[in-house]
Amino acid sequence: KFITVEGSEGVGKSTNLDFVARQLQAAGIDFVVTREPGGTPLAEDIRQLLLTPRDEAMSELTELLLVFAARAQHLSEKIEPALAAGNWVLCDRFTDATFAYQGGGRQMSDVVIGQLQSLVQGDLRPDLTLLLDAPVEVGMQRASRRGDLDRFEREELDFFERVRQAYLSQVEREPGRFAVIDASQSLTSVQGQIVDALTPYLSA
Ligand code: C5P
Repeated sequence: KFITVEGSEGVGKSTNLDFVARQLQAAGIDFVVTREPGGTPLAEDIRQLLLTPRDEAMSELTELLLVFAARAQHLSEKIEPALAAGNWVLCDRFTDATFAYQGGGRQMSDVVIGQLQSLVQGDLRPDLTLLLDAPVEVGMQRASRRGDLDRFEREELDFFERVRQAYLSQVEREPGRFAVIDASQSLTSVQGQIVDALTPYLSA
């Protein structure tokens, strides 16, 4: 199975990804944990290109193509081999993040993103996507405590509002694949929601 965790800034993605990993471990499942953009040495280099602020502005198309370039490498080197070997893959962000950040945030065409999605991954989609959702102000407050902002974290509030709405539109398009987790609740509640979403997959 292919499980992804998504959400905007400061929704607790890292903490809860670790929590999901512990659940899989406890269930005796063999799995690989990875992340996007990145996941292989080459794709991690592309991640650095994407995240590092620099004087030359990166065009939106460059950004979109780099995200998919990293994904192509990640799929062929890591995700597809792991799934083929019968392992589960737990991935921190995947193509929903592209629809959210490049589609919603940067307002690039969903049609174009969909075409690249077909080119790069064919029909491959996650089996389950845990979307950690919280009002943008909640997430930004948590994220701003971290200091050192990357190229995306320097965006304005309305950028992240579009990111959130684009994630929620994805849920409407493919409701069966998503579990929307209310990340504004306490950690205990969030983890309870995650267990509820995972349980049917663990016993299947
Ligand atoms: O998930 P993580 O915080 O590690 O992601 C790194 C940065 O890359 C974040 O600021 C995220 O918003 C951004 N990102 C993006 N487009 C993607 C994936 C990640 O802008 N498709």
